[in-house]
Amino acid sequence: MQSWLVPHQRLLSQQLAQGRLAHAILFAGVAGAGKSALANWLVQALVCRQPGKDNDQGILFACQNCKSCRLYRQGSYPDFLSVTTDAKNIGVDDIRAVSTFVEKKAHLGQNKVVLLPMAEKMTTAAANALLKTLEEPGLSCVLILVSDDLEMLLPTITSRCRLYDIRPLSGQALLENLGRDKGRDKGQAEVNLFANVSQLPELTDEAVYRQFRLFTALLLDFLAARRSRADLLALLNENTYAFRWLEYMLVTMARSQYNWLSWSGIRAELADTGINRGEQSAAAGDDAGQLPDTETIWQVYQLVIACIRQLKSMVQANAGYLSEKLLVDIEAVLDK
Ligand SMILES: [Zn+2]
Repeated sequence: MQSWLVPHQRLLSQQLAQGRLAHAILFAGVAGAGKSALANWLVQALVCRQPGKDNDQGILFACQNCKSCRLYRQGSYPDFLSVTTDAKNIGVDDIRAVSTFVEKKAHLGQNKVVLLPMAEKMTTAAANALLKTLEEPGLSCVLILVSDDLEMLLPTITSRCRLYDIRPLSGQALLENLGRDKGRDKGQAEVNLFANVSQLPELTDEAVYRQFRLFTALLLDFLAARRSRADLLALLNENTYAFRWLEYMLVTMARSQYNWLSWSGIRAELADTGINRGEQSAAAGDDAGQLPDTETIWQVYQLVIACIRQLKSMVQANAGYLSEKLLVDIEAVLDK
C-alpha cells in the first residue's frame, strides 16, 4: 500500500474495531491517488470474519483463510455488491439493485458491503435513488463510494457520506520529490506554488512536470497580457492533464492562495524554454501585464468548470472547438 494511504488505513481500522465506521464512505481524490486499493482493502477487512492486526501500524487486514475470505476471493461472497458498468452512466436500475441488496438480510450474518467504484457516473435520478437508500434508518450495510471527480457528485450525496480525501503527497514532500535534481533554491515562492498543487500526482514524472511548468507560464501570460493564446490552446488540446491543471490553477488563484511573487520567476522560465511563440514574442517585450483580480479569476474559473462539464457530458465532444471557445470566453471576461 502506498505510504500516503497508511494513515487512512489506520484511522479506518480504528473506526472499524470500535464500531464507529460510517455507513456511507466516500473516497475522493485524483486518478492514481490509490483510492481503489484503499477501497478494496476496506471491503476485504469488512468481509473477513477474523481480521488480523498489524500491531506496528494498528491496521486491520483480512485473514484470507476464513470462509468469507475464501468466498470473496472466488467472487462468490453473497453479501458484497460492486456496482460496475461499461455504460456511460450508472442509471436508476443499477441503484435499484443496490436498494434490493441493502434490504435483504445478510446471508452469512456478517457485514454487507456495497462498492461504487465510479460514483460520479451516477445520473441525477440514480443519485436521488441512492439518496433514499442512504436515508434508510438502521442501514445494515456499508456503502463505499469512490470518485475522482467530486464536482460531478450531487452535494446531497457527498454531505451524507464521510469523506476521505486521498492526496498522494503533501506539498513539501512533493516539492522535495520534484526539486531533487533541480539543484537551485528558488525560495519560498516555489514552495507556495507547489504546496497548492499537491493533488497532482502526475507531477512526480519529470517530463510531465516540465509540461506543467510550461502550462503555468502560458496560462499566466495569457491571463495577465492576453499572450501565448495559441500555445495554451495547443497544450489544452494535446495534454490530457491540461484541463485539470487549468482547474487547479484557477481554484488556487480564486482562493487567493497563490503567491504572485513567483510570477516573475515563471516569466523568466518561460523565456528559458525558448519555445516558439510566433509573432507574439516580438510584441511581448518586458511588459509582464497585470494579473486579474480575484473576482475576475473566479468568473474565469466558473467558465472553466462549465467547459469541463460539457466535455465530460458529451459522448464525442468536439474538444478542439470547446477549448477554443473557452479561451475566447475567458478573454471576454478579462476585457470586461
Ligand atoms: Zn478472513
